[in-house]
Amino acid sequence: MTDTATAELADFRAQTRAWLEQNCPAEMRTPVTGEDDVCWGGRKGQYSAAQLQWLERMGARGWTVPTWPVEYGGGGLSAAQGKILAQEMASLGCRSPHSNFGIWMLGPALMKFGTEEQKREHLPKIARGELRWCQGYSEPNAGSDLASLQTRAEDRGDHFIVNGQKIWTSYADRADWIFCLVRTDPNAKKHEGISFVLFDMASAGVTTKPIRLISGKSPFCETFFDNVRVEKRNLVGQMNRGWEVAKYLLQHEREMISGSGAGEGERRGLGELIAERVGRDEHGRIADPVLRTKVAEFEVDEAAFKLVLSRFGDQVRAGQADAAFPSALKYYGTELNKRRHELLVTAGGTDLLEWDSERTQGGAAIRAWLRTKANSIEGGTSEVQLGVIAKRILALPGA
Ligand SMILES: Cc1cc2nc3c(=O)[nH]c(=O)nc-3n(C[C@H](O)[C@H](O)[C@H](O)COP(=O)(O)OP(=O)(O)OC[C@H]3O[C@@H](n4cnc5c(N)ncnc54)[C@H](O)[C@@H]3O)c2cc1C
Repeated sequence: MTDTATAELADFRAQTRAWLEQNCPAEMRTPVTGEDDVCWGGRKGQYSAAQLQWLERMGARGWTVPTWPVEYGGGGLSAAQGKILAQEMASLGCRSPHSNFGIWMLGPALMKFGTEEQKREHLPKIARGELRWCQGYSEPNAGSDLASLQTRAEDRGDHFIVNGQKIWTSYADRADWIFCLVRTDPNAKKHEGISFVLFDMASAGVTTKPIRLISGKSPFCETFFDNVRVEKRNLVGQMNRGWEVAKYLLQHEREMISGSGAGEGERRGLGELIAERVGRDEHGRIADPVLRTKVAEFEVDEAAFKLVLSRFGDQVRAGQADAAFPSALKYYGTELNKRRHELLVTAGGTDLLEWDSERTQGGAAIRAWLRTKANSIEGGTSEVQLGVIAKRILALPGA
């Protein structure tokens, strides 16, 4: 890098930090306490004034999606600038202005497979958090074996008529639009008759039925389609070639889930959080020696994983990334997140088990621990990721 480029980036860092310090509301610089404390955007969400202000301010600069092109609602930042923004936000403990499947999953897929009209229609709304998206992939008989999906879309000229059922659709009851896999050719081989479509969840014939989890929350639904009309202009990619779009989107989903252990807005490491719970010895170390060893092992693994994530980001930007590598990230990142929450719960002792008490913020830690059990299922199970790693990364015989 030239001296001028380095100086420009240093300048950008200083300006970014100053802007964040001035514009990020104090409430948005506190750790996120759970999924209900996240701003997801959309027509149906109820958010605090600080959440809305932060979303509006970041959205106006395109910094909700900093490296997307300006014409699609992004900030037009270079990869290096985007990395600096993320670093400065992390160091100030700023939350993401909004979390949305549109940003993590649909946006990248539209950028690659969408028409210009689709990009201009959907990407700026994703950037500003106007609509909340959900993902209609899994069905009762199509999870790991996703290509067996049976939801039918019948071609009626300028539109499709969609009938079928999805399951485990995260936040389907709170989402505005869905990106959905449908079978458009029932006679083709199973991977070849699938299409990728978008439609409004308020369309006639769409119903959702929430599914309750052991955590007491209901983060997802069964979703039913009964003669739903979907305009052909909402077909992404080619008809019957939706599998390509689906797979590309899954890479982004897996990469996103792999980072789930980061603890947004949380600047304290696991060691500090655990020391708060179990106390410190006379040397300032975590008092319990067994926990101390486990935390040390965790922190070493976490530091190594962060470096791998960062290297993967650089490889993506340089166009050198292995398309299957998000499976390795997803596998390791979710197992790591499960370990993190096991340790937090162990350190909390039986007090933490109070489910409905104010003292435990309504059992926040224990609910979060239970939620992590799903990390190694959602977006493709750990076993399936190990299969992908064996076959596509390690090229093991017989895999
Ligand atoms: C919290 C959460 C949120 C989710 N959100 C969404 C969503 O928004 N949209 C959506 O479409 N889906 C969503 N899902 C569904 C998720 O993608 C599926 O649960 C997942 O792909 C597994 O499918 P399945 O549940 O049908 O399990 P199955 O595929 O029936 O698997 C059952 C078991 O068999 C194992 N197995 C299956 N095939 C293989 C294989 N080839 N090799 C080794 N082991 C194998 C699996 O690892 C698993 O242990 C969500 C799931 C969870 C838990």
